[in-house]
Formats: sequence, C-alpha cells, structure tokens
Amino acid sequence: MPSPSPSATPERLIRREVLALHAYHVPPASGMIKLDAMENPYSLPPQLCDEIARVVAEAAINRYPDAGAHSLKEKIRAVTALPPNMDVLLGNGSDEIIQLLAMAVAQPGAVLLSVEPSFVMYKMIATFTGMNYVGVPLTEDFALDLPAMLAAIRQHRPALVFLAYPNNPTGNLFDADAIAQIIAAAPGLVVVDEAYYAFASDSFIPQLARYSNLLVMRTFSKLGMAGLRLGFLAGSTAWLGQMEKLRLPYNVGVLPQLVAEKLLQHHDVLLQQAAQIREDRAWLFERLVGTVDAHAYASEANFILFRVNHADKVFEGLKQRGILIKKLHGAHPALADCLRVTVGAPAENEAFIRALQESIHQSVQGINHA
Ligand code: PMP
Repeated sequence: MPSPSPSATPERLIRREVLALHAYHVPPASGMIKLDAMENPYSLPPQLCDEIARVVAEAAINRYPDAGAHSLKEKIRAVTALPPNMDVLLGNGSDEIIQLLAMAVAQPGAVLLSVEPSFVMYKMIATFTGMNYVGVPLTEDFALDLPAMLAAIRQHRPALVFLAYPNNPTGNLFDADAIAQIIAAAPGLVVVDEAYYAFASDSFIPQLARYSNLLVMRTFSKLGMAGLRLGFLAGSTAWLGQMEKLRLPYNVGVLPQLVAEKLLQHHDVLLQQAAQIREDRAWLFERLVGTVDAHAYASEANFILFRVNHADKVFEGLKQRGILIKKLHGAHPALADCLRVTVGAPAENEAFIRALQESIHQSVQGINHA
C-alpha cells in the first residue's frame, strides 16, 4: 500500500486563514444555571409535548425531508406577515444562512462589512469563505456611527452588509433612519439580522418591498427552538432564487420541519413566553441598575450587557456559584469589563442577581486584600 504523502499535513493543506482561526467555543454547562446563550428558559405545556411526541412517532424518518419544506414555509409566512411577493429561504439555523449569503458573493476581493462589536459569526464566516471583512466601530454608547459607515461603504464597496437589529452583544436597536441611509448607500446587499425580533419593538420586514437590496434574516432559536436549528431569510425571489441554488437540498431535517410546524401552530404559546421574557428583562435591568459597581445597557433583546470592575473575577465568582453567563471582556476592546446575561426564568434571574452581588463584593474584597 502506498504510504501517505508527507506533504499532506493540515498545516500545508488547509488555508492559512483557517489555520489562524479559533473554533467557536461552547463552554460546558452541565449542572449550572445556563444564562449564556440567549435560550428561552421555558418548557412547553404538557399537551403540546404530547402532540409533538405523536408527530415525531409518526414521522417518516426513513425518507428524505421535503426539500422545499413547503408546509413549514406556509406556517412561517402565516406568522411573519411578509409583504406580498416576498419569499422565504430556510436555513439550518441562521448561521447557515450567513454562510450561504457569503458563499454566493465571495468573488476575489469581495467585502463583507459589519459593525463592531457585533455577532462574531459575520467575521468568522467572511474568513471561511475567503471574503475580506471590514468592521466599523460603533460609537461609545454602541450606536451606529453613520458618517463612518457611509465612508466605509464608499471606500470598500461591500457586497454584503450585516446589521443585527437588535445588536448582539450590546442589545440595542440601531437608529432605523441610519439603517435606511445605509441601505440606500450600499452598492450590495444589506441583511438586517433580526435574531431577537421576538423581544424588540421594531422590524424591517415591512420595509422589504421598499428596498431592492434589503433582506431580513430571522431565527426561531431565541423563541424556544434553539435545539431544532431553524432560521429563515425573507426577501424577493430575485435574490432568494439565486441563494436557493447554494442551499443543500436537505438542510432542514424531517424532525425539525415537523416539530417547528407544530410549534408554529401554537405560536401564541411561544409569543406568551417571549412576552414573559420581556417583562423579566425589565425586572433584571432594574436590579442590575441598582447593583453597586455595575453598569447595565438597555436591551431590546433577551439578554442584557453590563459592565463591572474586575469582570474576569466576577465571571469566575458567578461560575463558582453555579451560574454561567457570557464573558465578553477580552473579546473586543469596546467590551472591556463587559459581561452578558441571558434573561432566564424568574428564579434563575433572582439567583443570578444574588450571585452577582456576592461576586462583585468578593472581587472588591479580594482586590483590597491583595
Ligand atoms: N444572528 C445573531 C445576531 C445572533 O446573535 C445569533 C445567535 N447567537 C445568530 C444570528 C444565529 O442564530 P442561529 O444560528 O441559532 O439561528
């Protein structure tokens, strides 16, 4: 048998930019109160669980899924209020849709532009697909810097612009007029990423018919379906028809299609949970504002960004107390000393606030004693 070529090492074969990447890190959370990943904390009513169990038991998992997911798409249309003549494309999570969009436009030299800090996958996927990434800094209070955005658009002529609305990890909605000006100025596609739409007071879905270069992306992950992996892109068939060519035919499996469809039949249950989360967000925000040495940023999403002194120590203190949130300190200079907490169920939020106050107290004492 011929021995493998000595030149076939990962270092020689894999693209330089891929070798330089760090894999997306998902920390272990077993046994902890998990407030790190913007998940919906609520389970489903038992009756709905039974209905899902029946649907799953009867599913033809020996068959490939409906490649066009027609029935599920109908349900999505029914709950989304799409303007006429707009279509949807489904992704295995919206992460997959970001990748698909980037693959579609990734000619040599093509630019993907976003803001910083924002969702890290925009930059990572630009790298995966060989696009040039440009990140325009937000202002100090995490607003869009419109003059800087317009200048960057003139300079770099991006094929793709991603704007998360509300933004992750900052939680705010950008100014809608500023976004409109960006859409008007962009020579390429602008994707408004509404991953957190269920918790926000505004949407660009009604604007779809107004701009030929606008697409709106959503996910059901934050609404209680993170485990199903289902996102969608809404826009005109002129764009989506092209993207469909790149979508792998069976990217959404039989079970996610059936279960998501069943859940969307009971959309009111999910919306009720989202409404509860918005109420609890207000409670959590008030407590954070009232916490000595913490500064919280107002949020239209299901998480809150906040700043503390000694974020590393506070994060570890929370972990020791069984609470996992997201440490953003170290991820970007604008996020120095920042942590992000997902809104959980009331008892989880209470436990978090208690543990946070203890951890802050402990970190201050630790510093004083050092
Ligand atoms: N967009 C934004 C802004 C996000 O924060 C996330 C998840 N953190 C996603 C997209 C991806 O979500 P999913 O792949 O679960 O649909």
